[in-house]
Amino acid sequence: MAGEQRVRLSERDAMEMGIRCPNCGTYTSFGDILATGQCRGMGCVSGLELELVISE
Ligand SMILES: [Zn+2]
Repeated sequence: MAGEQRVRLSERDAMEMGIRCPNCGTYTSFGDILATGQCRGMGCVSGLELELVISE
């Protein structure tokens, strides 16, 4: 258990509609992250979550 890591998403991530797992490099779409909360990589146990930050 390596703890939590936070990554700020950029416009490029929006264009690709997903991110690469920081641990195994497998591309996982935002839809899959929201649906499963996990990396799609074979044998990778990384959990992935999306969080929206709203500021006033
Ligand atoms: Zn992974």
